Amino acid sequence: MTESTKTQCPYCGVGCGLTVTPGASAGQAWKVFGDKSHPSSQGMICVKGATVAESIDKNRLKTPMIRDSLQEQFRPCTWEEALERIVNQMQTLIAQGEKESICLYGSGQFHTEDYYIAQKLVKGCLGVNNFDANSRLCMSSAVAAYLDSFGSDGPPCCYDDLELTDCAFLVGTNTAECHPIIFNRLHKYLKRNKEAKLIVVDPRSTKTAEAANLHLAINPGTDIDLFNGIAHLLLGWGAIDTYFIDKCTRDFPKYAEIIRHYPPEIVALKCGIPIDDLEQAARYWAESKRVLSLWSMGINQSSEGTAKARTLINLHLMTANIGKPGAGPFSLTGQPNAMGGREAGGLCHLLPGYRSVKNPQHRAEVEQAWGLPAGRISPVPGRDAWSMITGLETGDVKLLWIAATNPAVSMPDLERTKAALLKSPFTIYQDAYYPTETSAYAHLLLPAAQWGEKTGTMTNSERMVTLNKAFRPPVGQAQADWQIFAEVGRRLGFQAQFNFQDSAEVYSEFARLTYKRPCDMTGINYDRLAETPRPWPDSIDEISAPKTANSGELLGNLVKDDDKSPKTAAKRLYTDGKFNTADGRAVFAAYHSKGLAEPPDDDYPLVLTVGRLYGHWHTQTRTGRIEKIVKMHPAPFLEIHPQDAAKLGIEAGEWVEVRSRRGFARFPALITKAIAPNCVFVPMHWGALWAENAEANSLTHPAACPISLQPELKACAVKLIPLKSLVNAELSPGQFLATP
Ligand code: SF4
Repeated sequence: MTESTKTQCPYCGVGCGLTVTPGASAGQAWKVFGDKSHPSSQGMICVKGATVAESIDKNRLKTPMIRDSLQEQFRPCTWEEALERIVNQMQTLIAQGEKESICLYGSGQFHTEDYYIAQKLVKGCLGVNNFDANSRLCMSSAVAAYLDSFGSDGPPCCYDDLELTDCAFLVGTNTAECHPIIFNRLHKYLKRNKEAKLIVVDPRSTKTAEAANLHLAINPGTDIDLFNGIAHLLLGWGAIDTYFIDKCTRDFPKYAEIIRHYPPEIVALKCGIPIDDLEQAARYWAESKRVLSLWSMGINQSSEGTAKARTLINLHLMTANIGKPGAGPFSLTGQPNAMGGREAGGLCHLLPGYRSVKNPQHRAEVEQAWGLPAGRISPVPGRDAWSMITGLETGDVKLLWIAATNPAVSMPDLERTKAALLKSPFTIYQDAYYPTETSAYAHLLLPAAQWGEKTGTMTNSERMVTLNKAFRPPVGQAQADWQIFAEVGRRLGFQAQFNFQDSAEVYSEFARLTYKRPCDMTGINYDRLAETPRPWPDSIDEISAPKTANSGELLGNLVKDDDKSPKTAAKRLYTDGKFNTADGRAVFAAYHSKGLAEPPDDDYPLVLTVGRLYGHWHTQTRTGRIEKIVKMHPAPFLEIHPQDAAKLGIEAGEWVEVRSRRGFARFPALITKAIAPNCVFVPMHWGALWAENAEANSLTHPAACPISLQPELKACAVKLIPLKSLVNAELSPGQFLATP
């Protein structure tokens, strides 16, 4: 191939458009530029997107490999042998009445087509719902919050809102480092418009917080206190929209009763912030006509993640900050296609088109579309990510198929996770790269085509669907993930259900299942996407009777939508004040704050929070092999406040052991006021392949939100021990020297 190809960046959920061109001569690296015509990113990319091509030939898995036990070495095998082994194992378990012991764990790195075929194989053909994805660790609290507050999933905002807001309220998101192009758009706008305000809520003084008019460094786990405290003030000041509340919402009285208990003096104390700052935040909300909230893992990765997100949404409902330009609650997706996964049924309680396995009508619609007998799809949600691990522990999971994700680094309570993986009778690991930390736990390795070697679609955080055209053929014997799943489906006897010639046919079948659903994509196909990325909703009905974006009737004192965005700009949802609930009203949530699942105590007196760095992506499978990024972030570290360092006698650069109730890790200390006292921070990127004993998740716990089942990866209780004292007290010098 010699021409340039347009695609989407395969890292974060911003979903920047890329243009990829071959090197000037054979053997030269592919070159990557920002795609100026992409409506979401407008030509901008960050260091990850700019360097992604450097990773595509490094450490690739090129052929299937197999072994009978984890003690043996892998030997290469043919696809025929690999597929036969998978199908035999599955048929044996099905014949034994143990189909519930089969699980598939996928990834937000999948294209939508991969997701769609994977969940069709498990939910439709096997008749169990044990398909979950790493989005469970990332976005499931946002999914649950949108569903419960609005009647369906789907972020209501779009990126143009970044440049139309009066007040950006960023909570639990280090946007500058984790979603840099979104932050660039917002920051440039804020520099031009000094009246617009930026509030950042984060226990750390991040690069995002440095740009804020107001930084609220709240104590970890006090987000709901803060939101209810702001609501208390707004209600007291009369700074609410009673017309919108009356006409477009329900359950406000229950919420008002809750927020009565959050007076500023109590909230400020609980959150550990000055009362003036709390009042200032509420004043910014009250004085702004358009408030835009952005949130990410700091809200979602919590044992009360759904309650946190819903309580934040409450603020938007009580002030009518939704469905209009520059306003609304906007969750930022961590992964490039977490959104596509949600649309395609990529979690264990979902079916395609924002349907639920619990809904009989939804199951019947999907069974009919798939040509399966009534009752084939189980009404019971399948195993979520963590319950696959506990199922291995109990022996109830007997076949675990992991694809495009690295749970031996990313799961909570890592020693427990690894011990469970060691017990797996049969683990299939499908990935583009080898080795990864998880490949050490596999019996069968399947080589997957990586993003530039297969054509498919991804949806970014603002519901923009981009066609990712392959720009080169797969290496070795690698195949697209959807092709591998489809071949297994055919061999299990479902030829008609997996009779696809190419990914365009897969997309077309999936899109038909979204007709008249909230995420209607029937107006989107590969031909139209080849012209430009397109946001949903985009119904086939609109092609014959086109409507202008944001044309809904606006209620109350909602601001008239005067957005002059081009036609390809993402539309906002709920511009007419009507939501996807049965009565069309958004629902207020009434939650008290519960705090952390594992608060600090005398034995473990500090709160550990984990997070991401600008250059690295998740478990470094790609970025750990890119020289520029490795130079930028060569090693992990522990951020500690000077007060805590002094108390513990820790000096700058000194190695420290961090212990939780589950494990330990070791880092050099970075003493900085960027982290609040009584908290410490470590990055989550370093697994066993990249550093010794530096895994953040060896410390974290699996306690999860009871609604979204998303684990609280963001916080756990720890204690610190300077390694010098360990050398004296517990370790011989030899042990110490061997470790860091
Ligand atoms: Fe890729 Fe995200 Fe960077 Fe955009 S901001 S180039 S999507 S990593």
